[in-house]
Amino acid sequence: MRALVLSDIHANIVALDAVLAAAPSVDEVWQLGDVVGYGPEPDAVVHRLRELGALGVRGNHDAAALGGGEVESFNLDARRAMEWTRTTIGGETRAWLAALPELLVHGDWTLVHGSPRDPTWEYITSTPVARAAVADLETPFGLHGHTHVPIGYLEEDGALGTMSPGSGSVLELGGRRALLNPGSVGQPRDGIPASSWMVVDTDAGTASWHRTAYDIASVQRSMEALHLPPRLVERLAYGL
Ligand code: ZN
Repeated sequence: MRALVLSDIHANIVALDAVLAAAPSVDEVWQLGDVVGYGPEPDAVVHRLRELGALGVRGNHDAAALGGGEVESFNLDARRAMEWTRTTIGGETRAWLAALPELLVHGDWTLVHGSPRDPTWEYITSTPVARAAVADLETPFGLHGHTHVPIGYLEEDGALGTMSPGSGSVLELGGRRALLNPGSVGQPRDGIPASSWMVVDTDAGTASWHRTAYDIASVQRSMEALHLPPRLVERLAYGL
């Protein structure tokens, strides 16, 4: 079975559609949260994911869009974008987001936005936190997002290895416990502006990372027309 793994789409329908056009045919689509927030087209992104029958989890921006107190910890630009998102999303989007779990166990895989112990909020940005997160997994493999940076953590002989995948990187899981981040579709932050995504092949026991360029300028024009914060518009071009 092959799954397309998407995270942190952030209401960027142009990026999502570019990824879908570039991706191979898959059996399932898995999403790791932050479907909305920052970007200009939350309803269109949710509509597309509904069409695809995507399985997945809720991120901190999704929770905030539903009216949660998460917005209190957002920086000013994220908060402004979230206030716009809250007033923009329709009932269908709201209902779909509200039905997402914080953590989803799907076969051998655990899907979260942040980390297994704190599915909505914890950022896995250091080896000690990653080691704890791998230990917390109740399945052999885990997928997370939230940092917008593609990375892989692998348990080997009791130690934790880290890999920084580039476009086309293929990981042979080989039965090792692993926690993998596909990077962000809608707002990459690893210095590469192209959308980042993964394919998991459960039969072959592989995971692969991919990058897809999209029409960033058209998204920036949409955001400017909606008076979304300039810093959020600019960062798309830098992938930061
Ligand atoms: Zn995010």
